[in-house]
Amino acid sequence: MLKNTTPNELASIGVIISYTTNMNQSKSDNLKALRHSAEHILTQAMENLYGKDKFYMAMGPATDDGFYFDFEPIGNFKISEADFPKIEAEIQKIIKANIPITQKNISLDQAKKLFVKNPYKLEWLDQIKDRGEKISVYWTGDQFVDLCKGPHVKSTGEVVAIKLMSIAGAYWHGDEKNKMLTRIYGTAFDSQTELDNYLHNLEEAKKRDHRKLGKSLDLFSFHEEGPGFVFWHPLGYQIYQNLVVYWRQIHKQKGYVEVKTPTMLTIPVWQQSGHMQNFIDKMYLAKTSDLDTPQYAIKPMNCDGGMLIYSSNPHSYKELPIRMGELGVVHRYESSGEVHGLMRVREFTQDDAHIYCTPDQVEDELKAAISLCKEIYKTCGLPLDHIELSTRPEKSIGSDAVWQKAEATMTKVLTQGKIEHQINPGDGAFYGPKFDFHLKDCLGRTFQCGTIQLDFAQPENFNLEYTDKDGQKQRPIMIHRTIYGSLERFIGLMIEHYAGAFPVWLSPIQAKIIPITDIQNDYAQSVKSDLEKHNIRVELDDRSETMQKKIKDATDQKIPYMLIIGGREVDSQKVSVRQRDGIDLKSMPLADFISQITKQVTEKSLNLIK
Ligand code: ZN
Repeated sequence: MLKNTTPNELASIGVIISYTTNMNQSKSDNLKALRHSAEHILTQAMENLYGKDKFYMAMGPATDDGFYFDFEPIGNFKISEADFPKIEAEIQKIIKANIPITQKNISLDQAKKLFVKNPYKLEWLDQIKDRGEKISVYWTGDQFVDLCKGPHVKSTGEVVAIKLMSIAGAYWHGDEKNKMLTRIYGTAFDSQTELDNYLHNLEEAKKRDHRKLGKSLDLFSFHEEGPGFVFWHPLGYQIYQNLVVYWRQIHKQKGYVEVKTPTMLTIPVWQQSGHMQNFIDKMYLAKTSDLDTPQYAIKPMNCDGGMLIYSSNPHSYKELPIRMGELGVVHRYESSGEVHGLMRVREFTQDDAHIYCTPDQVEDELKAAISLCKEIYKTCGLPLDHIELSTRPEKSIGSDAVWQKAEATMTKVLTQGKIEHQINPGDGAFYGPKFDFHLKDCLGRTFQCGTIQLDFAQPENFNLEYTDKDGQKQRPIMIHRTIYGSLERFIGLMIEHYAGAFPVWLSPIQAKIIPITDIQNDYAQSVKSDLEKHNIRVELDDRSETMQKKIKDATDQKIPYMLIIGGREVDSQKVSVRQRDGIDLKSMPLADFISQITKQVTEKSLNLIK
């Protein structure tokens, strides 16, 4: 369901990566003010060092992880990253001086005098005038002033730690027809420890970048022939399959059936659901050669096809709830600037499900869906951080009574389950409130994965019905939910979370057999066959390389177990087991190893993930 889709709604269906450090709202507001002040301090430091006549300051907002400052160099003035230490030293002086930062409202005339030489500030002033807003400036002591709405911290001493990160070019207003400005990126925290942690995590995140690991572990690739579409290589596709097998198994246990609907449907059905009207710019259209205009749209969501299945048979209340899952491949034309590795792709598999139920069943279905989400995240080693409940937006359909009941039910489910949650007032879908699931990875980054949405509108649009106890036709309530969100993105997150060293059950190759010399190859081959009989994914390294080289390669491939076979192992019919973390488990009968690894796979154990 994508009518009037807001960025938050898109995020809820696994489209957008929200990659922010988890923190509560007031802390995050304080940090924004502090970072905005940090940007003023940077500008002041540059004025102190180089003089006010060397550059025009253009703009400089706080961002989710720091701030940036855009300026136009005057004449042949130039700044490079080599100048950062000098500027940072000047920044430290300003911080140490603990200069008060104060706000003043001034008249347009005063402002024009103050910024007379700066074409960018004059442009801002015209805009402020057009909007009829007050003109606000912030002074740092009486030395530095900028046109600024704030908020800021009270004095420069509150901004304890600033780090300049990088330098880049940026067009004024982001428009390539405009002048290219210089942009300095930086970050700031209220303690050195927090800055150090941030920088450490940044380094760690670089090492764990799923695009880099995807290449070095040979998991997937991208090609211009399929822009924004993933090409899964055998090892990456094995991880994908492992998640699918697990998904199918657990959904079957929880009473879901699985369906498959077509990749494309004729255009009128997308009009019926509202996608065509509201989502057209994200949709791929298709046509056959005998027609001039497209007659099909490739599905951006699975709901429409799912509802056609529901409506193809009459339903009695006795059949409800119907929980219909679909691993549906959807296409969404994301702009090329937004496409990012596996995190944001244009074709992805959504682990979708639609639950059709009676109003009385909603509460239990929500509870069950939440606990299923929690179980899956826990199994994957990415525990739930919190749930967000998004409530009725300004523009919505359905009566007050229906909304109140839905929101009350959702709140009750969270409270009764003692589930950590936040409320996003007015951020629900226009057809119903929703839960969004936020997970936390090992670097403390939170990201949104699954969603559960209550929907009163689509059953109406598609005239879905069931017959109640009294033989009357009723509308079912529909619950849309995904748990992984997008399998592609989920795998991207898992790659980064585990730095490619997956738990045994997810590892594409679970054990590598390493004969020390060619003499042991026959026994090694028989070990391989034995393991394969027990469904262990195994590889035999029978290259004529040294044992050390083979161990190094298997470690680089992040394979959980290495089975080293020398003359002694052949004689005793054992294997010498070494873990990828370097721990040597000594030699054991093959049967013992098989039962150990089988137990870990069956239990989806999370040990040995280093
Ligand atoms: Zn749906």
